[in-house]
Amino acid sequence: MTTIESTTSADRLTFFVDGQWTKPHGTEVHEAIEAATGEVIGTAALADEHDIDRAVRAARNALDSGPWGRTTPTERAAVMRRFATALAKRSAEASTLVSRENGMPIGLSEAFNGGAPAGLLEMYAQMIDGTEIESVRPAALGATIVRREPVGVVAAITPWNYPLALAMSKIAPALAMGCTIVLKPSPDTALDSYIFADAAEEAGLPAGVLNIVLAGREAGAALVSHPGVDKVAFTGSTEAGRIIGAECGRLIRRCTLELGGKSASIFLEDGDISAFQAGLSATSFQNNSQTCTTQSRILAPRSRYDEVVDAVASYAAGLVVGNPLDPAVTCGPMANDRQLQRVLGYIEAGRDSDARLVAGGGRPSTVGDRGWFVEPTVFADVDNNNVIAREEIFGPVMAVIPFDSEEEAIRIANDSNYGLAGSVWTADEDRGIDIGRRIRTGTFGVNYYSTDLAAPFGGMKDSGIGREFGPEALENYTEYKSVYVSADRLQS
Ligand code: NAD
Repeated sequence: MTTIESTTSADRLTFFVDGQWTKPHGTEVHEAIEAATGEVIGTAALADEHDIDRAVRAARNALDSGPWGRTTPTERAAVMRRFATALAKRSAEASTLVSRENGMPIGLSEAFNGGAPAGLLEMYAQMIDGTEIESVRPAALGATIVRREPVGVVAAITPWNYPLALAMSKIAPALAMGCTIVLKPSPDTALDSYIFADAAEEAGLPAGVLNIVLAGREAGAALVSHPGVDKVAFTGSTEAGRIIGAECGRLIRRCTLELGGKSASIFLEDGDISAFQAGLSATSFQNNSQTCTTQSRILAPRSRYDEVVDAVASYAAGLVVGNPLDPAVTCGPMANDRQLQRVLGYIEAGRDSDARLVAGGGRPSTVGDRGWFVEPTVFADVDNNNVIAREEIFGPVMAVIPFDSEEEAIRIANDSNYGLAGSVWTADEDRGIDIGRRIRTGTFGVNYYSTDLAAPFGGMKDSGIGREFGPEALENYTEYKSVYVSADRLQS
């Protein structure tokens, strides 16, 4: 078991480029600060444009001239399985490090940063093992060979909230299709992604297939625009997604955008309040609510309104706030000071509005002065036009909104710029599924919510473009080519 005492710190002052640990061209470094203590736990080099250029060239070269571009799906599956084995050995290191960096409760980190990356590699290896990249079909004048080719060099740009699972949601399908990758993680989780490099080295990934360079926004923008990049796979804020999407549009560059959310959880008058309350850990408070699918709008029928408000308020008040490495802790700190100030700002906005504060509302007194902690906070009687119901807060601040009818609940749930997730709580599953069909979000849960990594995941409206996870994600990394040939090919 991971303990607070067993953790180690590490510096990462080189980048992983072309299979080697390379010295930075730039001189900028970033201090990684532990979210729960405010202590420096390591230092990492930040890439400049030259470093980005070197990484993209390595990826380009590995694709165009290296052995990777000529591998079969079965050969790639074997490499991916070795990579998964090497990563699995490092799962405790990965989950502990991420919890220290971003405040994620350790049990959740073990699942998403410890287990999921190796699991995703195994899943995509299984999908491509033994498959053919060409198929032949009849055509008017003969036959057509349809080829599935790699999309090319992939720029994977990731956020800090689920850093390793989200990075692997891009890397694994990209590797499966034969792409090469430059991963640019967020400086807010500066250290953990290099665990991928350690494992890639051990697994013998060919040089240049996976390159990892930590960089800020400016160098990240240089990666997006680099002429050697064929596709950008981005997860992050809607604000950054707009800029990246616009640049990719200008360059006619393929891109997928996994962005923010402001999802709704709808409790119907026939719902089971205990199941709903137990589900709050996944729907609304997972990872200290620093989760894109957080259902921070809770829609309650007037007939059971007080019951729902009490259930959410008492759940929030009962969360154990503290060091995320302590397995008893259910709400860790915010990932950084910027994030804490943002969340406190929204709490102030809620206090200044007509909404009624029913839980939390500030900084907790129980955890001392250190760390970026905030009290799990609930406002009731919130109007859906209130800023705390419209904007993504990315922290544990919930808005309970009353409704009079099922139609009104659906209208309020859909009255959002975002469209990422949601859930409904009802004794009638058919009714819940029907409501799910009418909610404009990429995922939806009936009486529970749990991201299924084997099914497509992504957003509608301002929550993004494209889908990750599941076999559907392979499409993101595939170019189709049709070669017109004679009918002779149909026989073979
Ligand atoms: P962010 O947009 O600030 O940063 C995300 C990444 O993009 C970082 O690596 C950052 O350095 C980089 N970046 C920012 N601007 C860039 C630019 N112009 N060019 C290139 N790179 C740039 O987001 P964040 O604060 O790290 O993450 C939180 C956000 O991510 C939230 O809005 C959350 O909802 C979203 N998110 C979405 C999903 C999803 O699957 N839809 C999953 C997790 C997080």
